Amino acid sequence: MQKTKFINPITDIVIQDDSLIETYSRLITLAAESKPTPVQSSYCVYTAGMTENGIMVKGSNHEHGITDTLTHGEEAVIAAALEEAGEEDPIKIIAFATLDETMVAPCGNCRDVIAQYGHPDLVIISGKKEGESAFVIPISEFYFDTFRKLSDLENIATSPGFLEALKAERTAYDIYTSPERLYGAAIITQNNLVFRGSFRGDVAYHAVNPLSAAIGNFRDGSDDISRLDVKEFVVVSTDHQPKIPYKERQHILEFVEGIQAYNNRSGQPLPIKMFQVNPQGEIIEGWETDSHQWYPFPFSPAHLGMENSLKKGIEKLLDIH
Ligand SMILES: [Zn+2]
Repeated sequence: MQKTKFINPITDIVIQDDSLIETYSRLITLAAESKPTPVQSSYCVYTAGMTENGIMVKGSNHEHGITDTLTHGEEAVIAAALEEAGEEDPIKIIAFATLDETMVAPCGNCRDVIAQYGHPDLVIISGKKEGESAFVIPISEFYFDTFRKLSDLENIATSPGFLEALKAERTAYDIYTSPERLYGAAIITQNNLVFRGSFRGDVAYHAVNPLSAAIGNFRDGSDDISRLDVKEFVVVSTDHQPKIPYKERQHILEFVEGIQAYNNRSGQPLPIKMFQVNPQGEIIEGWETDSHQWYPFPFSPAHLGMENSLKKGIEKLLDIH
């Protein structure tokens, strides 16, 4: 049988180690045996994984309810690996058996889960069972946290966007999350309307995060059409740099893709400003990134060929038929 060529699409480096090639191929074969139940999306994700000590597991995506998932493929194999091997033997390879030769990018939430439980050197493999070539990419390529420092912080302390984000941080509701995970958020429009969002936890751990809350507020909190020209996002945390989950970064990118498509600026990112304040609310430090930079190799509607649906979603907000 012809050996599959495993290639890193960023460096173009081809894996030469025969035992690695055999392991990767076995994992794709195992992934193809998983049993997805995508009852809503019909999109099957066949997944397998291997821990640092060589324990192999399989898993897949399962859906339920109204546009909700029971589990994504990555979450399924991480949960299976935790049961089989325990936290001391972290998962080091996650493999997808795909129907064509495409590189799989984990969604934002799965990136958060992998960051929590995966080995730091974890690699993502994706390819067809017995395909000619397959992709291998280190998980580190899917993360971005080297934000540019903001130098001019003087006028920000009195800006409505900052003050609303700070208020959202101080009014967060939660009974579990420790303070170091909390932040407040605001969406600011070109005509200086502000829509804030605060964290809302719940007893079953199904929280609404601040940026997602701000998007909800933006969508439903006004009928002013001019708000659709969005300028930027502001995030505030007390005593630490805001730690924004990739789940939120994905929500922001999806929101920006829709807004920018509506404004005929498809593909253009929007700025995100992050601030660390002290308990008195004074700014200690600031950083800047944008909706594309902080979420590399995105899992988003535009990248999945759904930009038209995004635009329609925004037009619906305006009551355009
Ligand atoms: Zn996912």
